[in-house]
Amino acid sequence: MPQTPAPAWLDLGGGSHVLPSTADRALVNIGLVIGTGRALLVDSGTGPRHAAEILAAVRTLTPLPLTVVNTHAHWDHFFGNAFFAAEGAKPAGTDAKHDGGTQFWAHAAAVRGMWVAGESQRAAVAGPEPEMAAGTGPCTELVLPTHLVREEPVRLDLGGVVVELFSMGRGHTDGDLMVGAPGVLFAGDVLEEGAPPQFEDAFPAEWAAVLMQLGRMGRQYPVMVPGHGRPVDAAFAARLARVVEARA
Ligand SMILES: [Zn+2]
Repeated sequence: MPQTPAPAWLDLGGGSHVLPSTADRALVNIGLVIGTGRALLVDSGTGPRHAAEILAAVRTLTPLPLTVVNTHAHWDHFFGNAFFAAEGAKPAGTDAKHDGGTQFWAHAAAVRGMWVAGESQRAAVAGPEPEMAAGTGPCTELVLPTHLVREEPVRLDLGGVVVELFSMGRGHTDGDLMVGAPGVLFAGDVLEEGAPPQFEDAFPAEWAAVLMQLGRMGRQYPVMVPGHGRPVDAAFAARLARVVEARA
């Protein structure tokens, strides 16, 4: 039987890349923006097993230390944090890749969501991440971001590439964070391609308004990366606004 090839990075230009995941990794998209001094990882995967695969893939593109952003408080987007925290904590000098730890960023409301509902999400990864599901074994603790974004956007200089972390209000969750890179917007599950939008923790009317706004941001961000599925554009966001509006 032919083996399914491992997902490969897609180069989006301007230093941005996206790594699609397999079905047992929830098809979640992992983003990477590479500067000259640091690289920024968008979402950390479903647990330590997935995170190890992600790091191996990252290291095919860059040896730089990582900053991690979690786009929201759902398991497929932050359960890999402990693995990246452990990687970043390796002492400097043992390996040039580790120079003083990994920073974790998220929307303040997302961090609250991880704290309140993180443990109850472990059952979701019972199949592909048994250690994470049980909460036993290395890198299975919930690591919550300590660097918070609230109303004000935060600009991070990765060296030659500046990314902006910002909130557009409530939508897919109450703590959605956007990651704007040159020409590319990583939108988390505010955008979803190839599957219907997920309303579990959503605020549909506000979400539709956010999507309409994204629909007008195509000049700044010709490429928009959904949390799941293929990269899309502003016109896709505008169409998705209608779908979400119908549920409001
Ligand atoms: Zn997701």
